[in-house]
Amino acid sequence: MAIDRYVQIVNLFKEMKIDLSIEDLATISKEVKADKKSLDFTIAVLNHLQKLKQNRIITTLQKFSRIPVIKRLDTFDFSFQTSINKDVIERLATLGFVHKKENVLFISNPGMGKSHLAVALGEECIEHGIKTNFFKMRDLIDKLKKAKEVGKYTKVMSSLRKASCLIIDEVGYRHLNEEETEIFFDIVDDRYETGSIILTTNYPLSSWNDIFYNPMSTKVIIDKLLHHSVVIKMEGENSYRVRDRLKK
Ligand code: ADP
Ligand code: MG
Repeated sequence: MAIDRYVQIVNLFKEMKIDLSIEDLATISKEVKADKKSLDFTIAVLNHLQKLKQNRIITTLQKFSRIPVIKRLDTFDFSFQTSINKDVIERLATLGFVHKKENVLFISNPGMGKSHLAVALGEECIEHGIKTNFFKMRDLIDKLKKAKEVGKYTKVMSSLRKASCLIIDEVGYRHLNEEETEIFFDIVDDRYETGSIILTTNYPLSSWNDIFYNPMSTKVIIDKLLHHSVVIKMEGENSYRVRDRLKK
């Protein structure tokens, strides 16, 4: 079933938040004796404007995300990283996990491509108009600690809710004290079943006691994170960077 040109034009205007009734459009078209070609021209111009608008939205989302270096799935070499199931990553890239508010955990030794994949999924979100936020764990904790000092903890915490996809890179880069562990728990708790977290860490879950203040905190954090989640463990000893150098 094809959509007639008048409906197409009205829909395109609607997407640009301009209300135009189909009767008015048909009346104008009759007045100026618009033919098939002039209606097609109008559709082409509106499509072009819509593309420009979408590009502006993506640029804004890109800036908002604070992703430091853009990485994409199509530059990820799955033949190097054979421990990953490409199908699983491609399924994640359909972004169902964001709509289901699930978490994704990338766990491996350094240099295996965790941050690459986390950012690439973030880029998929952005390209589909989904708000995304990137932080290294230490920066996120420091930001919230500072906010606490100046009485803006709740405000900053709720600003994190604006992003449907929150990337927390390098979890475990430093050991968290009691206050920092509570902050990390608050983030996980706040997003539980309300927003996705993509997390990367060099620490297997069995070593997370080394990251957080005490075993009880570790347990509740892991429980909440894992309840709705996809865990991707990547194997390997030599980092991609090292392998690249070895080849030269
Ligand atoms: P990790 O976060 O696991 O320490 P990164 O994602 O930072 O690793 O990867 C280190 C560098 O190697 C990055 O520049 C990344 O783009 C690149 N890299 C890692 N694995 C791959 C891969 N399988 N294909 C392409 N580039 C990769
Ligand atoms: Mg990394």
